[in-house]
Amino acid sequence: MLNFLAEYFSEHHIDLYAPIPLSECEVRKPYLLEREGISDGTAILIAVPYFTRACLSPERNVSAYAVSRDYHGFFNALFADLLPILRQKYPHEKFAGFADHSPIAELQAAAQAGLGVIGQNSLLITEKYSSYVFLGELITSAVLPAKTQAVASCMGCGACRKNCPMGEIGTCLSALTQKKGDFTSEEVGHFLHYSSAWGCDLCQEVCPYTKKAIQTGSIFSKIPYFQECAIPHLTLKILDEMTDEEFARRAYSWRGKATIRRNLELMEEHLKKGE
Ligand code: SF4
Ligand code: SF4
Repeated sequence: MLNFLAEYFSEHHIDLYAPIPLSECEVRKPYLLEREGISDGTAILIAVPYFTRACLSPERNVSAYAVSRDYHGFFNALFADLLPILRQKYPHEKFAGFADHSPIAELQAAAQAGLGVIGQNSLLITEKYSSYVFLGELITSAVLPAKTQAVASCMGCGACRKNCPMGEIGTCLSALTQKKGDFTSEEVGHFLHYSSAWGCDLCQEVCPYTKKAIQTGSIFSKIPYFQECAIPHLTLKILDEMTDEEFARRAYSWRGKATIRRNLELMEEHLKKGE
């Protein structure tokens, strides 16, 4: 089965995955496994790179993860294709795919699988793509050759914490850009100062692993899903011309159009005043 998966993942430009025994995973939502009829077996952790050349655009005004379409769409399509193939090839085993809404502690499991180290920015840091990966996992009742590694930490340079504006603005900037309703005047000031329409990458950008991955070029995802339909610089015009279907595919859609629209209005008004 692992040979088949190696071939399948390679065809889909996924090169960072590793199996660990399910018994070694911290199960946080057991009902998700019960629902699939899986009580034991293997979790194959997958780290999917999403950083593309569009993320380097100097005009970019959304977090790198929001430049492409939402990653849940990628995993949904991947599992919709892969699971039926596996179920047909191995009819006596059970298979399920998860990303984000997962039965297991994904970050911990990915580090146990040796996909990367845990950074002080609370993200998985991989050597090739730094922290610009989305985590998902294929869980199967099949007992596959798998081993667990001791969880390792990043080099601990502290740059992420030093550059994080949370102390200054009292909240995570990413959370601020996702706040529903109106900003207070103080929040408007913070928002315009950092000028991000959605999310915050400061703790990832200053990380030496990221700098190295950009310098060597290893950071770039070869996955077409993340290369297509990139919108590094979101504007009110682009937002207004987007179909509802396309908007629903974007990472900023879960807070509703009003939230991202407010942010763009504030930024564009501010820009006009400055001109
Ligand atoms: S996303 Fe930004 S504000 Fe939030 S923890 Fe990271 S650096 Fe700090
Ligand atoms: S910036 Fe330094 S401390 Fe923070 S995650 Fe990267 S290596 Fe670790």
